[in-house]
Amino acid sequence: MAKVTLSSDWLAGCAGCHMSMLDMDERLLDILQQVDLRSSPITDLKHPDPEGVTVGVLEGAVANSATEEVARRMRDRSKILVALGDCAVFGGVPAMRNHLCIKAALQRAYIETESTVNGHIPDDPELATMLPQVKAVDQVVPVDAYIPGCPPSADTIHSVLVKLLKGEKPQVPPEKLDWH
Ligand code: SF4
Repeated sequence: MAKVTLSSDWLAGCAGCHMSMLDMDERLLDILQQVDLRSSPITDLKHPDPEGVTVGVLEGAVANSATEEVARRMRDRSKILVALGDCAVFGGVPAMRNHLCIKAALQRAYIETESTVNGHIPDDPELATMLPQVKAVDQVVPVDAYIPGCPPSADTIHSVLVKLLKGEKPQVPPEKLDWH
């Protein structure tokens, strides 16, 4: 029988949600034995842009053109798309910049601070373009399952992934949701 395929990626965030996945310890190894892992930033698998993923997991918010492209690509290739962590679910920490004047923030970061390199705002055309507002993943593409928390606990991530990989609808008990 063909294994369920799993792929994960991160957008704008701190990588803490993927670190929490690693906290599943032996349970992560059990999961990896049951799935065909196509790509993930926590493995040596580079991103071969795999097609036909059963469960795609995205951590982080959509903050620029590069993360928007990753989110759209993951949606396109995944049957079920999971938003992992508060940044993916509602914008979280990266979305704090939505309340700032971006021009002033860039000026402060790159020109007015002593740590500035070269004293100018980076304008390399190879760099991703900032979106005017940081967005939750479901503001860009449809999401099928949400795992809130900053980060969600390993137990919570495990319980949702196990259900999804069995083809079941995840129902995390409220006490296991990591609301703060
Ligand atoms: Fe980091 Fe929290 Fe965002 Fe996860 S939800 S990427 S732990 S800031």
